[in-house]
Amino acid sequence: MAKARAAVQVGPKHYEIREFEIPKIGTNDALMRVEACGLCGSDVDQYDGKLDAMGLILPVIPGHEPVGIVEEIGFEAARRWGVRVGDRVAIEPTLGCGRCRACMTGNYRRCRVGRPGTRLTACGFIPTSVEPSLWGGIAEYMYLDPNAAVHRIARDIPAELAVLFQPLAAGISWAHREPGTRIGDTVVIFGAGQRGLTSVIAAREAGARSVFVVGRRQSAHRLALARTFGADEIIFSDEDVVQRVRALTHGEGADVVLDVTAETLTPVTVAIDIVRPGGTIVLAGVKGPGAQLQGIEHDRIFAKELTIKGVKNADFLSFEIAVRLIESAKYPLEKMHTHSFGLADLEQALLTLAGRVPGENAISVCIDPAL
Ligand SMILES: [Zn+2]
Ligand SMILES: [Zn+2]
Repeated sequence: MAKARAAVQVGPKHYEIREFEIPKIGTNDALMRVEACGLCGSDVDQYDGKLDAMGLILPVIPGHEPVGIVEEIGFEAARRWGVRVGDRVAIEPTLGCGRCRACMTGNYRRCRVGRPGTRLTACGFIPTSVEPSLWGGIAEYMYLDPNAAVHRIARDIPAELAVLFQPLAAGISWAHREPGTRIGDTVVIFGAGQRGLTSVIAAREAGARSVFVVGRRQSAHRLALARTFGADEIIFSDEDVVQRVRALTHGEGADVVLDVTAETLTPVTVAIDIVRPGGTIVLAGVKGPGAQLQGIEHDRIFAKELTIKGVKNADFLSFEIAVRLIESAKYPLEKMHTHSFGLADLEQALLTLAGRVPGENAISVCIDPAL
């Protein structure tokens, strides 16, 4: 029987390459040959062992941002997803159970039912002990469960560009769909990582009049890309951000403020100062367990009638829009891709993405199992 190689996390900062049997496909599921799998900050947290508290059970094949070619597919799955053998597909991280309250109300990304043997319901987080093991994207082949959320994406674009569907969907969700960004709006984005950059594109697509990005001085290459994608102004995080935004908006403040930074809580307090009355703040950065908000004057939220939204992921439509936008080649998204690594170099890929390799300025990093 044919086997598939995969990177398997067996402990914090510890991976092995293992082989798994390629499963038999029934009428409702499919097998995908992985072309590339994107990496994000949560992969770094997983590497560091920070997800154990969330119920991550090892060993696990990581990788939740994969694209690949449908190698085999059951009749019902083909009908449901509208794809056939040979099509390229982008797979959402979430695997809803399909029947719980969250799933039945269209919020499958909030599904907490999980699979037998795990509480986590996303590909890349289900242990290999759950059959048929090939749940993660850092592998030659990945199993597509009947509940997978599948998006067909054109085959004629490079795989390392196609994998940007995931950060782009996040940008569309966070900078457009969740805050309801409209024509003429002013949008301020804290953070110039992959998701900050795709948020610039999303804000532009939504019709924003002005897009300002707040980033660190040392992120010059990312901030330059933010300008390429349509940011009107760059504000350095060590400047007086409140004053700058006030000046740029003639005292009005921003309609939408989005925070995608990791660890630092400063943008959250600044956001309350720079958002206009009636405006919306989207909190989408991961600050780490136990991070407490302090120094926020409660009555300012009340008096300014603010909407503050926490957003973790993207909805189905954000993914659809992202895929179509990549296919359109309207933005030079390929400039975000900085590194590709093979399966065996997953650790190096994660360290590069995390900025722990001196001299490397990573933005988007992916694993290509054919390398
Ligand atoms: Zn991710
Ligand atoms: Zn569910």
